[in-house]
Amino acid sequence: MKTEIETIAGETPGVAYQLTVHRLTGSDAGAPRTYIQAGLHADERPGVAALHYLIPMLEQAEAEGRLLGSITLVPHANPIGAAQHLFGDHMGRFSMGTRVNFNRDFPVPGKDGVRALDTATAPVFAERRLKSRLLELADDCPIVLDLHCDDESVQYLYVPEPLWPEMADLAACLDAEAALLWDSGSDCAFEEAVFEQMTARARESGGNLSGHCVTTVELRGQNDVDAGLARKDAEGLYRFLQGRGVVAADDSATPDLRADFVARQIRHVEMVEAPAGGTILFHVAPGERVQAGQMVAEIIVDPGCSGGAVAVTAPQAGYVLTRRIRRFVRMGDNLLKIIGDNQAVASRTGALED
Ligand SMILES: [Zn+2]
Repeated sequence: MKTEIETIAGETPGVAYQLTVHRLTGSDAGAPRTYIQAGLHADERPGVAALHYLIPMLEQAEAEGRLLGSITLVPHANPIGAAQHLFGDHMGRFSMGTRVNFNRDFPVPGKDGVRALDTATAPVFAERRLKSRLLELADDCPIVLDLHCDDESVQYLYVPEPLWPEMADLAACLDAEAALLWDSGSDCAFEEAVFEQMTARARESGGNLSGHCVTTVELRGQNDVDAGLARKDAEGLYRFLQGRGVVAADDSATPDLRADFVARQIRHVEMVEAPAGGTILFHVAPGERVQAGQMVAEIIVDPGCSGGAVAVTAPQAGYVLTRRIRRFVRMGDNLLKIIGDNQAVASRTGALED
């Protein structure tokens, strides 16, 4: 494995960021190339922990001649967000300089199939140069995994609809609980920018998207970071890479999806908002089924007073995917994501959240 420390120049004198890039070289030029990054939302750590265990496994495969496809790994994809603290709290989701979500506004190809990427010396903000560099590093890889997590959550994947069900192998290897299939953009998240580029290339070459995989993997919730889960995720990713022929395997058969796996189009997601501000008492947890009208949470507005708590009910029957990690909420904040049995909206363009 070769490691390079790249420098992303900051916007002011004396400031620079480091991007660590690991490269492993496969022995078979015909095997799929893979790109994996973690920590793009810098406050989401399960992916970083998983790579802590996956990287030595891949290094060993490379040393023993079992690595077929080349792999690029960026375990800390967002050194800018990693450095943002405000009064002791870490702020890793939005750039404090521009207010832009670190996983939005990636450059996507235009109608002509060409992307406007910023070079390392372009006179633009560091996060723009970082985004372009991450896309360059993922370029030409048919397998691209962006490791994230949600607030409190089961493990689930965002998947471009044309790649489903082929990508069910990844969900099965990870033992994931759900997949959200999107078909009309995600506010230019990294995944969308990569997928659009893959699609443009396939169109250009007259090929198809078979064998491609690009996803935002939500490795459960922000606090689901421990050695057991990280090892399990690393082993799942390794198994997936074996199944795709990136790493040689005696048995490349992939496991089955969980019997209760939920795969739905993203327009099934009910974003349940807080009807009042206050203290949340949840009555359901991620992974549970709910019925229409079932109380899923109470918000305590006036503690101890008659009528001092506001009940929140499920708008339809479905599956609780995520819930808010903090228990103090503003009116209008998202409380839960529920995958409805029926479509929640006629169509959904853009990301579920800011
Ligand atoms: Zn994220």
